[in-house]
Amino acid sequence: MNWDKEADVVVIGAGATGLPAAIQAREDGAPVIVIDANWDVGGHAILSGGNVPLGGGTSAQKKHGIVDSPDLLFSDLTDWSVVESNGFPDYRYNDREIIRAFADQSAPTYEWLVAHGVVFGDRSPDNRGAGATGNSALRENHVAPMDWPLMQTGKPAAPEMRTMGSSGVGLIRPLEAAARKAGVQILLQHRMTSLVRENPTAGRVLGISASNEGKTVSIRARKGVIIATGGHASNVNFRRMFDPRLTEEYCGVAGEPYTSQDASGEIAAMAIGASLWGLFNQTGEFGSGITKPNKVGTQYGYVNLTWLPSSPVFPRARAIGLPVRDWQDLILVNQAGVRFYDETKGQFTSNRYNGVSNYVPGSYLNAANIKYAPANFLNAALAGTGDGTNGGGPIWAIFDHEAVIREGWTVAPPHVDREAGFFFSGDTIAELARNIVNKYQRKPMPAAALEQTVAKYNSYVDAGKDPDFGKPGPQYKIQTPPFYAGWATPVPHDTRAGLRINAKCEVIDLNGNVIPGLYCGGESAGGFSQHGLARCTVQGRIAGKNAARAESER
Ligand SMILES: Cc1cc2nc3c(=O)[nH]c(=O)nc-3n(C[C@H](O)[C@H](O)[C@H](O)COP(=O)(O)OP(=O)(O)OC[C@H]3O[C@@H](n4cnc5c(N)ncnc54)[C@H](O)[C@@H]3O)c2cc1C
Repeated sequence: MNWDKEADVVVIGAGATGLPAAIQAREDGAPVIVIDANWDVGGHAILSGGNVPLGGGTSAQKKHGIVDSPDLLFSDLTDWSVVESNGFPDYRYNDREIIRAFADQSAPTYEWLVAHGVVFGDRSPDNRGAGATGNSALRENHVAPMDWPLMQTGKPAAPEMRTMGSSGVGLIRPLEAAARKAGVQILLQHRMTSLVRENPTAGRVLGISASNEGKTVSIRARKGVIIATGGHASNVNFRRMFDPRLTEEYCGVAGEPYTSQDASGEIAAMAIGASLWGLFNQTGEFGSGITKPNKVGTQYGYVNLTWLPSSPVFPRARAIGLPVRDWQDLILVNQAGVRFYDETKGQFTSNRYNGVSNYVPGSYLNAANIKYAPANFLNAALAGTGDGTNGGGPIWAIFDHEAVIREGWTVAPPHVDREAGFFFSGDTIAELARNIVNKYQRKPMPAAALEQTVAKYNSYVDAGKDPDFGKPGPQYKIQTPPFYAGWATPVPHDTRAGLRINAKCEVIDLNGNVIPGLYCGGESAGGFSQHGLARCTVQGRIAGKNAARAESER
């Protein structure tokens, strides 16, 4: 190889995993290069709500009298007996070795983040934003956005929110500053295209190839390469390995269009022999693997992310979306113009503090005590129309002028995306159906079917009952023109399965052996079913530490 650049440790991705990895490795003495494909650092993390479930006895937990320990955290996150009300277990398939490492490093990582400039709101850890965080203790901490401009608005948070709000920008910008201060070299607009190993599937990982402005850049890693690329939710072929239903129309991935989770880390590692791990966690029906949008009329309807025109990302996002306050104001139909479920129903749930009452760790009674309540909204949306294709096709919110008034919506750009085909109107229901033209709408919506659906629904409003799907007391007829159709298709979000790693975040191959010189953490790593930032920051630090102390390649 002719190397263009070199360092001891090369980190791919400057998000929630990559920045802690880089700082840790640098502070442990290793020269470090971080590359990121994007034009700025932060990945999904900078857009995130900044709710960070680090527990196991943090100083914040102690200050507020919350009893927790690494053992309690480990016990919580490996408890086979905790199941959701639809019967799916949150923790059963977590890898014990990976969770032990997380439990031991969780509280130290909280203190480490504080020591590296991250400000957590001065209040008790709570349950806000929590999911799969363990049943026994409050563990959710909230990062103060301070004065940093939010990526989704281009502006700092409102003054009253700066210390008491919660946003990932308050995590990423201090870590970026700490990384630069420590001497980490950050190369933006560098996309890793492959990993370089001594032999195709044997020997040590020597470095990476990346592309930058059309040129190939080869970067040697004397000690280790850390994959921190953030998972696979945006890669249609990759995500369909876990769930064949997740076809192209699920194009509003949370975090896009700032960064996409394109599985490039997983694919590059698999090409040199790496194994995947903990695959049940990707399809287990809990948490936020796939979510119900709360905004309609835009491609990007994720509940916790609203793009405003002042954001530097807005030209790509194109619309703010119409936030839905009351699902009684609309119906949801599939591409055939037919309702499929009670619109007021939500998405999958996940366990958190006190989610199981009378909790006894590891007891079958925990499952016996839950009330079975299948959460089928998303499955109904993904089921499709029986036309022999995979994927449920587009889901459209159908509503009328009266609904617009009740919700206080403005049905014009920049609130809705007419131009790219995510919002339509018509003076009659039939005209509305005919106007719907979207690249994912496999067949035109039959006007008669939509007319029939609306007429039937209006009769349910008269009757005060929805015999088809049990929507509680349907309230409003859809009868006053103009009529509207807004994109409301489910949103992929979390990646909860990825590369096989061990407790040191070393990547493992298909034969169960460590791939020397290759590390991974965060959403690209498997074996740990928990949403977000805690596992990423902890595993980033673990990977950085172990890569820095690895033997140098000669
Ligand atoms: C809107 C939103 C809200 C969220 N809120 C929360 C929350 O409140 N609490 C919580 O715990 N979690 C939250 N999350 C989830 C959390 O942000 C992610 O789990 C976390 O950021 C994942 O970290 P990561 O390091 O794996 O990936 P990321 O943070 O996404 O970083 C990956 C980086 O890798 C780069 N990259 C990818 N491929 C390449 C390549 N080939 N070459 C070079 N660079 C590459 C990307 O550009 C990106 O910068 C939220 C996510 C979103 C989208």
